[in-house]
Amino acid sequence: MIACGCEVCTSRNEKDKRLRSSILVQSEKTTLVIDTTPDFRTQMLRENVKKLDAVIFTHPHKDHIAGLDDIKAYNFFQHKPMEVYANQLTQEALRREFYYIFSEDKYPGIPNINLHTISDKPFIVGDIPVTPILVYHLKMPVLGFRFGKFTYITDANRIEDIEKEKIKGSEVLVVNALRKKDHISHFNLKQAADLVEELKIPKAYFTHISHQLGLHEDTNQELPSNIQLAWDGLKIDLKGS
Ligand SMILES: [Zn+2]
Ligand SMILES: [Zn+2]
Ligand SMILES: [Zn+2]
Repeated sequence: MIACGCEVCTSRNEKDKRLRSSILVQSEKTTLVIDTTPDFRTQMLRENVKKLDAVIFTHPHKDHIAGLDDIKAYNFFQHKPMEVYANQLTQEALRREFYYIFSEDKYPGIPNINLHTISDKPFIVGDIPVTPILVYHLKMPVLGFRFGKFTYITDANRIEDIEKEKIKGSEVLVVNALRKKDHISHFNLKQAADLVEELKIPKAYFTHISHQLGLHEDTNQELPSNIQLAWDGLKIDLKGS
């Protein structure tokens, strides 16, 4: 965190250095990202992502959409619009915050996107089937996503039973855990761990971690053996599942 001198923010462990939360999902043919954070450009450069087919948004908060402008590099090299998937609420924010992308009179070099609306139904991006999962961030509806045996949920603190059914059977769950203390719109560490246990998920990683959660290594030791804190650059291979 900017201007903070706490033990996490000054830690030399690379796993205590966290950019804003996002994941990249890749099949043989298709590469997509969930959310374009303010760190999107840094993340794509770090991972040397040369091809990107789509962006899928979870919700309209700035830490999940701010990097959208930087998809213009993919427009330039791929010679086509970026396929962007979002619910209505997020689309309203995109139109407001990136008004120039949607203007009639476009100046050269601005991002070019093809907007798709996510409903409550599964959809396919390239060769990747995607199941949206509705979760709540205080009162804001947020989309989690399931890809085969993998589910990603961020910025939630409540999930209705009917949506929990869509997560069950996942081999790997990535879910948000902000800190140990309660928070108004994020699961805390215990709530996230309880969810993993309730849904009987064999392997889980926590994401969207605040510096208030404590050091990566210390927190990991407090967690059950099937749960770890995620870290920037973590790769999960689910080929064949
Ligand atoms: Zn700090
Ligand atoms: Zn949020
Ligand atoms: Zn967030």
